[in-house]
Amino acid sequence: MICTGCALLCDDVIIINDSGNLKVRNACRRGAKLIANYKNLRADATINGKKVNYEEAIERVKEIINNSESLAIYGMDTISIEAQKLAIELAERKEAYIDDNSTFCLGDFVEMILKKEIPSTTLDEVRDYAYVIFYWGTNPFHTLSRHMSKFTYYPRGKRRQRGYEEDRFLVVVDVRRSHTAKLAKKNAKFFEVRDDLELIQAFIDALDGKPPKIFANDVFRVIKEMEKSDFNVIFGGLGLRYGLKGKYDKFLEMIRKMNERTKVYFIPLGCHPNMRGFNELLYGITGYVNKYSFKDKESKEDFAFYNLLFEEKIDTALIIGTDPLNSLPFEYAKKLAKINVIVIDPRENFTTKIADVVLPSAITGIECGGKMKRIDGVEITLEPMIEAEIDDVSIIKSILNLIMEGI
Ligand code: SF4
Repeated sequence: MICTGCALLCDDVIIINDSGNLKVRNACRRGAKLIANYKNLRADATINGKKVNYEEAIERVKEIINNSESLAIYGMDTISIEAQKLAIELAERKEAYIDDNSTFCLGDFVEMILKKEIPSTTLDEVRDYAYVIFYWGTNPFHTLSRHMSKFTYYPRGKRRQRGYEEDRFLVVVDVRRSHTAKLAKKNAKFFEVRDDLELIQAFIDALDGKPPKIFANDVFRVIKEMEKSDFNVIFGGLGLRYGLKGKYDKFLEMIRKMNERTKVYFIPLGCHPNMRGFNELLYGITGYVNKYSFKDKESKEDFAFYNLLFEEKIDTALIIGTDPLNSLPFEYAKKLAKINVIVIDPRENFTTKIADVVLPSAITGIECGGKMKRIDGVEITLEPMIEAEIDDVSIIKSILNLIMEGI
């Protein structure tokens, strides 16, 4: 089956049912735990914390949404593209705000790729051809545990037959010696940075033929290594995104100058399994990847879910497959208690505990199928173990039908 534990969507996971005990082969620890324990901590249908049947819960959702004057739909990075499409349709019909985790994760980079401002590629191509591999502000050793073994540093590829000792050059950029950085030994370089922009400027200066102010020898050495190949790649994570402090132009300038010397691609490295799917869908419909208002027909920082909450701009939040009470800063998340909260999620979490209505759904990839987009934009068809009766698609469809009755 396909593991939906992170944005790698590993396609080689094998499940062995040993008299009811699930044994998971090939997955990393996170994926194996997710699959083997899929029956644990499941959510119930509730209204104000009291268990109800599904029909009662959905009826209450209809009332809340029909009475809402300012609705935000948030999350959706763990559900299928089919379900995301319906959620976007619901937002459009209600002239609602819609946003996902990519607003504070890697949505900006995905938007640059979709607008063709940065050249990007697929993980399969990286495995076959990439020589210099940067991990910039990301620690895949922990966040996407099979990234290096399946696609980048360790595997043999069509034009990379001699393994990582000779056929790959690893560059890790981070503010501390992470576990990924500790792997940077032979044919590798670790840049321990105080400020990502200083290193970006060092690369720009070196590429312009000027002496860089920091890491001069190492920057020249890495450029020389890049020039040995016509296929190099930078994987950028949250450390890079926040290290840029909004100065994306400097980063784009560095990539452009690198591409005048050799070929360098960029792939963002986030871990929500279908964040890329949501970004691409919304972009196809609106021209923006996140924080969009169907009423104002634009995307801006004010429409980010956390800002809508903080500024008390919404009376209802429909939260799908995420747990903002756990992930948002408390000053923001506590505002959820003041508004109507509807949660669609397979599991109990902090947000289900304060929700007005909870609608339990199936776990995408395990109990229901559909499609997702891997972090590099490759579409993957899921292969669930079982088919649950109620999933995100059927729930959002029911809500849409009920809302249509009320219009
Ligand atoms: S790396 Fe991600 S997709 Fe692959 S097995 Fe682990 S959690 Fe699942």
